[in-house]
Amino acid sequence: MTGNLLQKAQEIHRLTEAELMSLLADAGQEEALARAADQVRAAYVGDGVHLRGLIEFSNICRQNCCYCGLRRDNGALHRYRLTPAAILELAKKARDYGYRTVVLQSGEDSWFTAERLVALLQEIKALGLVITLSIGERSFAEYEALRRAGADRFLLRIETTDQALYERLDPGMSFANRLRCLQDLRQLGYEVGTGCLVGLPGQSLESLARDILFFQRIDADMVGIGPLIPNGDTPLATAAPGNFHLTRRVVSLLRLLLPEANIPATTAMETLQSDARRIILQSGANVVMPNVTEGDYRRWYALYPGKICVKDTPEDCRSCLEAKISSIGRTIARDEGFRRHR
Ligand code: SAH
Ligand code: SF4
Repeated sequence: MTGNLLQKAQEIHRLTEAELMSLLADAGQEEALARAADQVRAAYVGDGVHLRGLIEFSNICRQNCCYCGLRRDNGALHRYRLTPAAILELAKKARDYGYRTVVLQSGEDSWFTAERLVALLQEIKALGLVITLSIGERSFAEYEALRRAGADRFLLRIETTDQALYERLDPGMSFANRLRCLQDLRQLGYEVGTGCLVGLPGQSLESLARDILFFQRIDADMVGIGPLIPNGDTPLATAAPGNFHLTRRVVSLLRLLLPEANIPATTAMETLQSDARRIILQSGANVVMPNVTEGDYRRWYALYPGKICVKDTPEDCRSCLEAKISSIGRTIARDEGFRRHR
């Protein structure tokens, strides 16, 4: 029965909500599921792993998401904001490490007005880099200005498609506005990246199945999935961490249903289990986001505790990932890594 389901998913890239739920629940089929996803990954996006250099440029945030250490009510966090000149320097280093894309990520920091970001993006664009933004919710006009200034992609996780759960865990934010942002980004011609957390308190398998169908329905270009890592300085301090295996099954199902998407092996996975990124790259993923942030800023960008590699330099990250990728017979992709369309 499950074998048939996997075969069907591998051939037609469609599963119903009930079928997704049965595969999400079935730990015994996890290896077969990962193998099927790995085959679809090889057939549709190939063996190249895309590296995206991550720059964590500000941990100041006006939002108050219950799971996140950057939330505005967390007084225990040392706050920082890099200057545009410092961000540009990191982008140059990322280019010199050979990364074709930089991901500029931050809390929702209002100091970075569209005007300031536009000036910065133009300079980064002049380096020949592809730019991904991950800076949260903005207006259509701001997204438009940023797109014109050279931003190519945008990451904005829906976090969960369960509206009530979303609005409980992201107080003051509305699910409708999150959807509006994703629609605006699509309309403006960004490559749209989204994703969800696995293991939110109150999240069901049904809800995860719906998340996967949502990503398929909006034809997401990128989907990042991470387990919840409870942060002691947040209201979810005592929550249970997300389950590694369930998260892995979500990633594999995503690859079956969105064969062309770019799917990262996320750092949060590696916080749960060492070597997670290698396993996830063999379970459907084709992207890794090495950290380019330097020194103490790495530690202070504390979305969750136990973040890996906080003491490493960007050079360490690059060589460690190159070794991991070649150890599993994969290569580092040299192209810009836009989503492929068949
Ligand atoms: N402020 C931006 C980008 C930074 S947060 C935004 O919210 O879109 C990036 C991602 O970190 C979030 O989308 C969330 O899914 C993840 N995250 C936050 N806290 C986390 C935690 N405790 N465990 C795992 N992932 C977390
Ligand atoms: Fe801010 Fe993003 Fe963290 Fe929410 S998830 S508190 S928006 S940094």
